[in-house]
Amino acid sequence: MTGPFVTRDGSSWVPEYLTCIDATTCIGCGRCFKACSREVMHLYGVGEAGEILGICDDEEEDFDGELNRMIMVVDEAGRCIGCGACARVCPKNCQIHVAADKFTA
Ligand code: SF4
Ligand code: SF4
Repeated sequence: MTGPFVTRDGSSWVPEYLTCIDATTCIGCGRCFKACSREVMHLYGVGEAGEILGICDDEEEDFDGELNRMIMVVDEAGRCIGCGACARVCPKNCQIHVAADKFTA
């Protein structure tokens, strides 16, 4: 994907797509989800051994007592428009973004 990418006034702009979130440092605070208008990521439950238990679409979900913590997972990466809003609100700097002009296809 090479662009060209421009803003409404024609200025050059390169999207920075969210590609992944470091599961070891994410605290599942949900700030990035609230900042994103595209539903690119969702909260998932993680068990004691670090296994993914499933999506947490219900605040009361505890996966039959298996829930140890929650993390944000990029499960709809193709929906990202590379606005960077999620990176600005993350308190743990655990997201990886890749510039659109660095993607090869
Ligand atoms: S860069 Fe923008 S569109 Fe992409 S995940 Fe972050 S907030 Fe959502
Ligand atoms: S803002 Fe950062 S720490 Fe919070 S859920 Fe998103 S990626 Fe995880």
